[in-house]
Amino acid sequence: MKSVNPEHRAVFIFLALLLVIGIFIYARTAGDHKTMYKQFYSTRGIPVLMYHKVNPDRKTGGLGLRVLPKDFDWQMDYLYKHGFHTVSLEDVIDYWHHKKPLPPNPIVITFDDGYQDNYTYAFPILKKYHFTATIFVVVNSIGKTNFFDADRKVQPVNKMLSLKQIKELNAYGITIGAHTMNHPHLAKISLDQAREEIINSKKALEKILGKPVLVFSYPYGSYDKNVEKIVKEAGYKAAVTTRQGINFPDSDPYALKRIRIMGMYSHRKFIYELNRYYKKRF
Ligand SMILES: [Zn+2]
Repeated sequence: MKSVNPEHRAVFIFLALLLVIGIFIYARTAGDHKTMYKQFYSTRGIPVLMYHKVNPDRKTGGLGLRVLPKDFDWQMDYLYKHGFHTVSLEDVIDYWHHKKPLPPNPIVITFDDGYQDNYTYAFPILKKYHFTATIFVVVNSIGKTNFFDADRKVQPVNKMLSLKQIKELNAYGITIGAHTMNHPHLAKISLDQAREEIINSKKALEKILGKPVLVFSYPYGSYDKNVEKIVKEAGYKAAVTTRQGINFPDSDPYALKRIRIMGMYSHRKFIYELNRYYKKRF
């Protein structure tokens, strides 16, 4: 019998080794992917960003509530490049309660009050990245000004979204949520008044949009168990607060936490805020 050429044998052993290493590496990464997926969905949590104004004009307010359009653009670009997918609060609730699938790295972008600059400056940037968002509108300020803060002189006068702009945002796929009729501290007024603010704003927006309005934001983050109960009974599916943090499947859907993004934040601070509440990175 002809003996095997030692050179051929060496090549054979080398190839076999390569194959074994290849299978080993593949098995490990496949396993990792599976674990990452599971860990994200069960423990990592879902962030909800909170914005108010996106405006370059310093006369429209300080950099607490106002983010510069160039910074907002940078932030959206960051989310886009890091594989975030914008979803609505309804998507999040449907995922938690009905196992409706969510894209990887889901994030909810919200704007409170319904400033006109959300349409002028934020909307084109959101469109550029094919992102969606939720805008919580104060019904009695539509087409007018931010009377609830400007009258008390705690904020300069700001123009608010018009009916036409709200309809266009809705048609694009921006979720319109309710932020009451008059922006009161809901936990400080009577329960009857709170009920009117919560129910009437839902009805008014549903009439404007011709579809159910299912998400709510508590003005000034003011709420308590009674207010929460009214929001639930009114037929909303979810409500956001100004409490800082991210949300998990066992979070109270009527007391969702958010991550406040302020205009004075540096890029580094934005990244820090985005990541600080996540449970241990996978
Ligand atoms: Zn507000």
